[in-house]
Amino acid sequence: MTNYQDLGLRPLINAYATVTKYGGSLMPPEVLEAMNEAASAFVSLAELQRRVGERIAKLTRNEAAYITSGAAAGLMLSSAACALHKQPRALDQFSALAALKYEAIILHSQRNPYDYATQQTGLRQIEIDGSPAALRAAINDKTACVFWFPRGLCSNADLTLAETIAIADEHGLPVIVDAAAQLPPVENLWRFTQMGAALALFSGGKDLRGPQSSGLMLGRRDLIDLIRPISNPNHGLGRPLKVGKEELMGALAAVERYLKLDHAARARYCEEAVRLFCDALDPLPGVDAQRAFPNEAGQPLPWCSVTIDSAKFGKTADELVADFLGHDPAIAVSPLNERQFHLNPMTLNPGEEIIVRDACLQLLRDP
Ligand SMILES: *Cc1c(COP(=O)(O)O)cnc(C)c1O
Repeated sequence: MTNYQDLGLRPLINAYATVTKYGGSLMPPEVLEAMNEAASAFVSLAELQRRVGERIAKLTRNEAAYITSGAAAGLMLSSAACALHKQPRALDQFSALAALKYEAIILHSQRNPYDYATQQTGLRQIEIDGSPAALRAAINDKTACVFWFPRGLCSNADLTLAETIAIADEHGLPVIVDAAAQLPPVENLWRFTQMGAALALFSGGKDLRGPQSSGLMLGRRDLIDLIRPISNPNHGLGRPLKVGKEELMGALAAVERYLKLDHAARARYCEEAVRLFCDALDPLPGVDAQRAFPNEAGQPLPWCSVTIDSAKFGKTADELVADFLGHDPAIAVSPLNERQFHLNPMTLNPGEEIIVRDACLQLLRDP
């Protein structure tokens, strides 16, 4: 069997985050076993999608659930669901759906590279400032839904999710929450939909540690049922976003595991790793290493923020980030700007925090 090294690639230690470009997260044994078993027998894919969805819905206290090929696919499929909700007769014809020129509202402060997926179904994106008046003014009979991205750099003046849902509700409009990286806390699996969001989308391949090409769409059954006929194994818009039997069973195993996980123990591990990093690095000349909380994605886990005095080192933080990747073993750390990077413990395997600390000492002591 050919491995990464045979292909001339070095595996990385991930002290960055659950970023897709480095492989997202690692699947634990429960998930691998579920995928292996799924790979050993044929089954009706549409029925499996239904049964897995029912099981996940129950586990996550949602009305319904659908497994997508990722949160980005979920953005696309939920846009389609909202358009079809307005015009069910457009079901078979994607071109007809686009021609209807339906609109999706998004807050200016929440624009992000993933929101492109909301337009791929032909929805026109209407960008608004974050005030209640702007949201009310943007809503018209072409509006299909409102998208909400919790990661956005919201200013305090912006609408909250609860206010957005309240205004959307006045018009019977679904609010879709892109919660791709909003785990932990585990409660988010039901929090957004219990607040009244129509659908909440999660990555299966981030902290859930399910298959990389999986995601969860949780929430309203009527919306989810609208995308079944146009998603694999059926033909239509969702057919290229195929989710196989292995991903379906892997995603289910990942959810089951995540609900049982000792999240407090996991948070303690992260605290200890961050303390280890700060204690080792902060005393170094020209280095400031501090615990920061929550981390960049807003997850309630600490990470270590490292600020360097570039003049002293003759190197920027960006150059150090490259040094980490060139180190043996290669380590991915989270770049921030010319002076700062972060060490994120959430994707470390236990024991790797020592390797990361030692690499830091080597690279920062002797730049
Ligand atoms: C990671 C991410 C996505 C994409 O998730 P995939 O499961 O990789 O498709 C979408 N939106 C946000 C905000 C993300 O952080």
